[in-house]
Amino acid sequence: MTDKKVRVRFAPSPTGALHIGGVRTALYNYLFAKRHGGEILLRIEDTDSNRFVPGAEDYIIESFKWLGIKFDEGVGIGGPHAPYRQSERREIYKKYVNQLLESGHAYIAFDTPEELEAMRQATPNFQYDAHTRTQGKNSLTLSKEEVEQRIAAGEKYVVRAKIEPNEDIEVNDLVRGKVVINSNILDDKVLYKAADELPTYHLANIVDDHLMEITHVIRGEEWLPSAPLHVLLYRYFGWADTMPQFAHLPLLLKPEGNGKLSKRDGDRLGFPVFPLRWVDPKTGDVSTGYREEGYLPEALVNFLALLGWNPGLDRDIFTFQELIDLFSFEHVSKAGARFAYEKAKWYNHEYLINKTDEEVTELFMPILAEHNVQCDTEKAKYIVSLVKGRLNFAKDLWNETSFFFERPTAYDEKSIKKRWKPESPEILNGLCDILDRISDFSSANTEAIVMKWIEDNGYNTGTVMNSFRITVVGAAKGPHMFDITAILGKEETISRVKAALEVIK
Ligand code: GLU
Repeated sequence: MTDKKVRVRFAPSPTGALHIGGVRTALYNYLFAKRHGGEILLRIEDTDSNRFVPGAEDYIIESFKWLGIKFDEGVGIGGPHAPYRQSERREIYKKYVNQLLESGHAYIAFDTPEELEAMRQATPNFQYDAHTRTQGKNSLTLSKEEVEQRIAAGEKYVVRAKIEPNEDIEVNDLVRGKVVINSNILDDKVLYKAADELPTYHLANIVDDHLMEITHVIRGEEWLPSAPLHVLLYRYFGWADTMPQFAHLPLLLKPEGNGKLSKRDGDRLGFPVFPLRWVDPKTGDVSTGYREEGYLPEALVNFLALLGWNPGLDRDIFTFQELIDLFSFEHVSKAGARFAYEKAKWYNHEYLINKTDEEVTELFMPILAEHNVQCDTEKAKYIVSLVKGRLNFAKDLWNETSFFFERPTAYDEKSIKKRWKPESPEILNGLCDILDRISDFSSANTEAIVMKWIEDNGYNTGTVMNSFRITVVGAAKGPHMFDITAILGKEETISRVKAALEVIK
């Protein structure tokens, strides 16, 4: 690498919710920049007014805030290269379009959609290029006067790149190595549209990457086919010496089967493909997000970081700082990365159980409030310590603890079928008598007394404890039984057993 300061950009188009693949692209940009003490900027590529979706930009910014990916400059932050919204950079691009026209690397074309369609019909596999542009209505086939007249008359035109045929173009990619593509397969891409006075993605992207001193272009594999044109544009502008290095990231694949991950896979298999909840402003369709599903941002970051890259170490859990310290393109795979969403759950579980009881209690308190439960923080924290190991998501907390706060109103059929014995009622009546006589209802003391009573009577420990649990908890689940009864207290425990005996026959 040169000694130039690393500068990368994430350059989404605001065409809807940010897809999880885009989040990974931004993350790799961030990891790479921070690894090299560099900078990352956020640029909004909104030159395609037809696809603009209101709210998308705010959504993107909020997503990264939640994930802890901090941009050094860009939309919402500012910086020396402002504005960072391409729609606000019209005048800048005009100058560069003219430069290409003057140097003969681009030309003006007037072909109407109907005319283009006719050309498409007439020629199989038609593309507008060195072989076909001679049939078009453009500044290469029309006289200078006619071109000027048409423009003066307000005719809408586009500017196309003039790609020279039969030239091998080399793209050096940090993931894929050297990729060589012959210019014959490229078409004369539209670089500018007079109709909205805006460049297309290709031109705006190159001009901005140059002006913003971008050193590395890290983006999804779907942009690889555009790279040869981009290499040519750098050359046409005379910027080949400072051309950024490319790195095209592997596709995210469906969890099962072939093809790339789509929103439909998420709907079908029940996982989000967006970082945050998204309401489509046109259709009103609501899509859930990782945040709303209860994922911790650091778990999602860890999961996404290892989709297509691995640090070559024999473990899965890495702090954000470790990901930064370890990141390199050497271990980014060329092959697509399967979106194993179950693994995301696993990550969340790991991150959750590694939080302190205090931290999980902070997540627990609002859940308790939601269920109108009054509980002081100390008690909540103690309950958290009992159930933490079972959690995948903070929202599981209620399911794992509701019986501490609410008496069961129903008793799980499956548990009864499996664990309830004909002698259970009689034994539980006897148990109530024993419990009633205990004055120190702490977990250890109650356990010692009950265990001795079980032994003295020759009962089966499993039968007693399982039946007991069903009456108090409502199902065969939950932490250590005597930890539960210690929290509930003697009176509540006994009355739950009695209430259950009325119901379970
Ligand atoms: N605006 C493009 C996108 O939406 C950027 C592609 C690139 O990074 O060059 O992904």
